[in-house]
Amino acid sequence: MSLTRSDSPASADREGSSVAYRKPFSVIYVEEAALTYPRAQRILSRLPDAERILIRDYRDVFNRAHQNPVLQKKAQALILAVSDRPRVYEGAPVCQDFDNDRFFYSSDVMNCVFDCEYCYLQGMYPSGNIVVFVNLEATFATLDRLLCAGPEETDLLSAVDSGSAPQIRDGSDTENPLYVCISYDTDLFALEPLLGYVADWTGYAEAHPGLTLELRTKSAARSVLRSLPVPENIILAVTLSPDPVIRAMEHRTPSLSARLEFAAEAISLGWKVRLCFDPMIAVHDAQTVYDAMFDTVFDTLPMDRIHDVSVGLFRISREYLKEMRRHRPCAVTCYPYELTDGVYHYPAETGEPLTKLAVNRLSEVLPRERIFLWDDAT
Ligand code: SF4
Repeated sequence: MSLTRSDSPASADREGSSVAYRKPFSVIYVEEAALTYPRAQRILSRLPDAERILIRDYRDVFNRAHQNPVLQKKAQALILAVSDRPRVYEGAPVCQDFDNDRFFYSSDVMNCVFDCEYCYLQGMYPSGNIVVFVNLEATFATLDRLLCAGPEETDLLSAVDSGSAPQIRDGSDTENPLYVCISYDTDLFALEPLLGYVADWTGYAEAHPGLTLELRTKSAARSVLRSLPVPENIILAVTLSPDPVIRAMEHRTPSLSARLEFAAEAISLGWKVRLCFDPMIAVHDAQTVYDAMFDTVFDTLPMDRIHDVSVGLFRISREYLKEMRRHRPCAVTCYPYELTDGVYHYPAETGEPLTKLAVNRLSEVLPRERIFLWDDAT
């Protein structure tokens, strides 16, 4: 069974759909402690006309009760803060690890300028505003320690988090491989003209060969791409969707053709490019819609130069979906999913044919070992 937007209990997000998007960041909340950080000053200098409101703690604004994240996305505020703990976490079970043993993600920015109706952030955060932690060095310091820790030192992250981390042997020549996704809870690339965090990360990556970073994006900002170095150990993961899905539910994101031009230029510049067909959504006539998308992708990109691809059906934790249905009842949130071990997913009769289509089409152009498939518990 698949639903189109017009089949849904509310054909679009009930409270937010009729409100137009306004230019984001006309208001910036700034923690007093953040003001002394050069990174905060750099960001503020790029928004000279914004109203600034000094605050004591970002949580006073971001965690307020009774916010509507969907409406807030229509006119996002920016919050600059200093994190009081490292922003590095072990990879979540619903995330693809690409066969990496030591899989972490970092979250120095919370929330995204894009507005996808299926985005789990709407269920995870109480606000639609964007928090930027300006002490990125705390994340780098945590990764320094993880890189130098042996695989046996499994409790290191919780020890670092609690402030009781042991001193780890020093020396970059002893780095142990670490895979870190840096753009899960945001889209760092889309924010690059404002934040400059991708440039900061590329500098860090170049100095740490033991690290592999994944930078995931739906952006198509080719000028940003041209302004950056191309580190060997960063994988640029470009999420692709069919245009009907983009138009219906990936609001404010670039079209498929724009994303493909972006990916093509990245490849020509020497980036390792991963294509992410994740999440695939069971829209009306999904087989035809996705089949046509693969034709377009194969006609546009040099597939023999793609690093790898990931394929995954939409899935979401029970807790997040509950919140998403409350704030944004629409086709993708109100779909009658099945629940397995706390994760909602498509029923097998809906999901399996879509996965099969993706794997079959991708196998035409890529060896099977470069196609990573999310095991969706069906
Ligand atoms: S691009 Fe990703 S992080 Fe941003 S709103 Fe869409 S799903 Fe969420």
